[in-house]
Amino acid sequence: MPIATVNPATGQTIRTFEELTDGELETRLQRAQSAFQVVRRLPLEIRTRALLQAADILDADEDRLADLLTLEMGKIRTQALAEVRKSAYGLRYYAEHAAQFLAARHLERPADVNADQAYAVHQPLGPVLAVMPWNFPLWQVIRFAAPALAAGNVGLLKHASNVPQSALYLEELFSRTDLPDGAFQTLLISAGRVEKVLRDDRVVAVTLTGSEPAGRSVAAIAGDEVKKSVLELGGSDPFLVQPSADLDRAADIAVIARTSNNGQACINAKRFIVHTAVYDDFLAKLTERFTALVVGDPADEGTDIGPLALESGRTDVDELVQDAVRAGARVITGGAIPEGAGWFYPPTIIADVPESARLYREEVFGPVAIVLRAENLDEAIDIANDVPFGLGAAAWTRDADEQRELIERLDSASVTLNDYTISFPELPFGGVKRSGYGRELSEEGMHEFTNLKSVRVR
Ligand code: NAP
Repeated sequence: MPIATVNPATGQTIRTFEELTDGELETRLQRAQSAFQVVRRLPLEIRTRALLQAADILDADEDRLADLLTLEMGKIRTQALAEVRKSAYGLRYYAEHAAQFLAARHLERPADVNADQAYAVHQPLGPVLAVMPWNFPLWQVIRFAAPALAAGNVGLLKHASNVPQSALYLEELFSRTDLPDGAFQTLLISAGRVEKVLRDDRVVAVTLTGSEPAGRSVAAIAGDEVKKSVLELGGSDPFLVQPSADLDRAADIAVIARTSNNGQACINAKRFIVHTAVYDDFLAKLTERFTALVVGDPADEGTDIGPLALESGRTDVDELVQDAVRAGARVITGGAIPEGAGWFYPPTIIADVPESARLYREEVFGPVAIVLRAENLDEAIDIANDVPFGLGAAAWTRDADEQRELIERLDSASVTLNDYTISFPELPFGGVKRSGYGRELSEEGMHEFTNLKSVRVR
């Protein structure tokens, strides 16, 4: 894929970028190594102050940045602005909590380990490679960078090829803080050159957010090199609706859960598993809402859904839908690529998807809601768990027994009751099964790229 800004609303190429030469890449790796020797010794207060400076810069730049996100990947303007603000919040969150999360943990009775003093302390690892997707061009990077930099690591960003201006902005952002030159660098390279970087001795670990194939490839290289890896991969999250749910509210939230980010979030609800007693009602309410959504220019205020970010992504979505139709699924609304420029796909509801259809178990990365019927809670949980993924499950019920069952039995890294799945810096975020491993955000996210060193002093 060329490294370029292409407006997905028009298909027009706005700007293309040259990849780094091997020599330029080498210079950047050297710079990362030197920067690490400085960053690791900086007082924590300077590192956290840099996060606050970066947050202030995001505040000041929020309008031009929101425009850039909308241009590069088609996110609607209001959601682009929300992403910039969330990124600033994430930076401030880690600035405020880093000291607490990195504090040494002292043994109350060091004599138990034959010592006068004994403790465990988190120390940085070194230059960490971050391979990132285009769907939240700022937030995905900040949720790695804020804790990693505060802990004393340095960052090397290989961003998705279709968001190069966002990638370059992120390097510029940290270079405008008190962090030393090279503390956070963007590598304009193709996916094929990730292996070379990851195998380089100066790079100590990798985090990847993206698709399962990319994750598998990068994790295999990291495993071969015995380097730490964190993977945040795809999902096909369930959204269960039980008879005690407030159906109107569930339908309102279902629309946001499925279509936010033009339907291209890992934690978008993708499968709506509805109890048979309320199935017809819920489907009618969801259909009414989906057909009212306005698809159009993501920069326009009245738009609910913009284009998909990539033409190939739209082809993938449509192939999954057409395969399901051939297998016997019923399209309730949408389901066909519209005429005209840009990579638009209509909000689509598809019911009666048989198990033989790819759509039943694969991730669909666009505004397509799969609605499935369940006879009872047990069956709903079985259907929810019947995919290779496990990111965030949502369920709607006011019954306390059902709530306990759902929290206990859903195979996912998070469960949300009577709302939709969303990430917060305050809570750990990640996946189980093929959605990945490791955690981001919260205290656990900061500890992923640290050496937890045990110290005994006699
Ligand atoms: P993608 O194609 O896997 O790309 C993600 C990043 O990996 C890009 O920088 C890409 O570079 C790079 N890449 C692709 N193949 C690679 C390989 N074989 N070796 C090394 N790097 C490789 O994913 P995407 O289409 O951008 O993002 C959509 C996917 O990300 C969905 O599956 C979504 O669910 C998942 N996602 C997960 C989370 C989470 O937190 N779990 C969050 C957001 C998205 P190029 O652009 O140059 O190809």
